[in-house]
Amino acid sequence: MSLSVNLPSLTVGVDAYDELGKYTRDYGNKVAIIGGETALKASHERLQSAIDKTTLEVITMLVYGKDATYSNVERLKAIKEVQEADMIFAVGGGRALDTIKVVARDLNKPYFTFPTIASVSAATSAVSVMYHDNHEMSGLEFMNAPTSHCFVDTKVVAEAPSKYLWAGMGDCISKEVESSFSARGQNLSFSNRLGVNMVKGTNEKIMERGTQALEATKTGVPNHALTDVVLEIIGATALTTVLVDNDLNSNLAHAFYYGYTVLPQAAAHLHGEVVSYGVLLLLTMDEQFEYRDRLKAFMETIDLPTSLADLEVTTDDEVTQILDKAMTMGDLNISPYEITRSMVEQALTDLEGLSQATA
Ligand SMILES: [Zn+2]
Repeated sequence: MSLSVNLPSLTVGVDAYDELGKYTRDYGNKVAIIGGETALKASHERLQSAIDKTTLEVITMLVYGKDATYSNVERLKAIKEVQEADMIFAVGGGRALDTIKVVARDLNKPYFTFPTIASVSAATSAVSVMYHDNHEMSGLEFMNAPTSHCFVDTKVVAEAPSKYLWAGMGDCISKEVESSFSARGQNLSFSNRLGVNMVKGTNEKIMERGTQALEATKTGVPNHALTDVVLEIIGATALTTVLVDNDLNSNLAHAFYYGYTVLPQAAAHLHGEVVSYGVLLLLTMDEQFEYRDRLKAFMETIDLPTSLADLEVTTDDEVTQILDKAMTMGDLNISPYEITRSMVEQALTDLEGLSQATA
């Protein structure tokens, strides 16, 4: 029995695209660029000027579609230039990258990822989340290995709407908390141990650099803090996701998020925004009060939600609906102790009491 550990490599910074030639030169010259419509517009000039400094030749540039669907995959696979390319550049957010990864896998092409927002684990993961044409989730597609290299131009990330980095940080702060909590007391396999340890220290870095990084996305001017935070989101958190078993990847913070999605309010709130409140809930239940209070104070400074009211949850009935779903989620399966509904209810009450006391 052998064990493979597939870790994607990455380059993050204002000159990230200038490293292209170094990583692509063993794969040939003909490139098919595929991406999201907005992402291609946002990155094209910088990507093209980096390509111009190499021997690479762009033989086609295509919009992937609008969703990660099999019909988009099949349409792209049938395009002659895509079939003839030596490699594929996947540009954009999660759904674009997920679609293009499946195209590259099916055509046996190496692919490189160029995430244009920071809240994307698709750029380095070896799995794609696919949807039906009616936008219902259909399932997961697995790659043999992650991207050959991931390039994050922080100028492009800084120019993207601020909310993506904001919510990306909200999701990012869950990984260290949830993976450590789930792994507590477990005898970890090699990959799980690497993954759980890789993300340790991430939240200290986010608390230290997050505000300044967010500033970069408000002004459109990249700074070192943005590079640091993107490294935590894509370089640490996303790699942990690649390394650890699914059971260790998430816990109560994500179970809370899935519970919340049953409410119509969910449409107006980003994934990471909701998850970040769930992190406070988990820390409250686990009685990590000092740490929770520090994290909560940071979240308040950047306006991440720290109360149910921030998530527009105002009635007991809504809380019941959230918990009805949350308590059934597999995210809770691997925990250091059994998580009961009354424990979660108590933690919610305590956390809400805290917000009212400080309001
Ligand atoms: Zn998440």
